[in-house]
Order: sequence, then structure tokens, then C-alpha cells
Amino acid sequence: MTLRELNAFPDQVLRQPAQPVKKFGEELKTLVDDMIETMRDAPGVGLAAPQIGISKRVIVVEFGNEEDESIPKQLYVVINPEIVRKSEDQIVGIEGCLSVPGLVGEVDRSQIVTVSGQDVHGEKIKIRAQGWLARIFQHEIDHINGVLYTDRAQNIWQPDPEEMDSI
Ligand code: ZN
Repeated sequence: MTLRELNAFPDQVLRQPAQPVKKFGEELKTLVDDMIETMRDAPGVGLAAPQIGISKRVIVVEFGNEEDESIPKQLYVVINPEIVRKSEDQIVGIEGCLSVPGLVGEVDRSQIVTVSGQDVHGEKIKIRAQGWLARIFQHEIDHINGVLYTDRAQNIWQPDPEEMDSI
């Protein structure tokens, strides 16, 4: 596994809709492993391939239970992810982003989403997420569509360092 360099705003790769993955093999596995390592090192709770300069539709998410920290974190790897369902009720939350260092903003997101896509072997998968996990998926899927949370935020500010929880 190799730590990859993070691309920061205003790098153009963050603004391009990423390419669908068609080949499932060693190269993809290496990319996924590197993304997991880079996300954990940052540290962040999610990472999309364009954030390390790779314009491919690949995301990784690692998040625990928001109410009970004793439950181990769960890792999700989704290739060609798509939101196939989302709840109409939205909640506001404070987001940061590894690609927009030093800032946070308030963003409305759907409370519940269903994400479909493929695993690293190309098998179809479907994930139902709610709360923060749903927010992280919406944030990461925005990345592969060239959208940053700052496009959606009602306001953006520079937080105290301890307020930061970058995703
Ligand atoms: Zn981000």
C-alpha cells in the first residue's frame, strides 16, 4: 500500500465528472488499498479517487456508529456508486473536506440514502445508510461528479482546529 498525495481545491481533477470503472483487476485493488491507507492517514471518514488525482468512480468510506463508539468502524468500498434512493427529509450538518483544507460549512443532506454500485470484484452491492453515514456517501458521490460541498453549503467558515472532522 502506498500513501497518495491529496489534491486540493482548485485542482481541476476535482471538478471533472470521473470515469466509470470497467476493469476489475489488480490495478483497481491497488488503487482501493492506497485510497484506504490515504483516508486513514489523513485522517478522514471517506475518500473519492479524484481527491488523489485519479478521475475514476471509486469511493471508500469508513465510519463507526455515531451513538456508540464501542462498535467497530465499518469500511465500505464502492465502485461506480450511485444514489438510487434518497429521503426527502433533509438535515443540516457541518462538513469539512480533505480537498478544501481549513474550512467547514453547513450543508443540507438527505437523512437516508440507498447507494448501489459494485465491490472491488465487480459484484453488485447495495447499501442503505442514514444519518452521518448517509451524509458521507452523498459527499463522496458528489466528488466523483465534480461537486464540492462548498457548492452546496449555506455558509462556510474557518473552524477551531478541534471542531474539524474532515470528510
Ligand atoms: Zn471531500
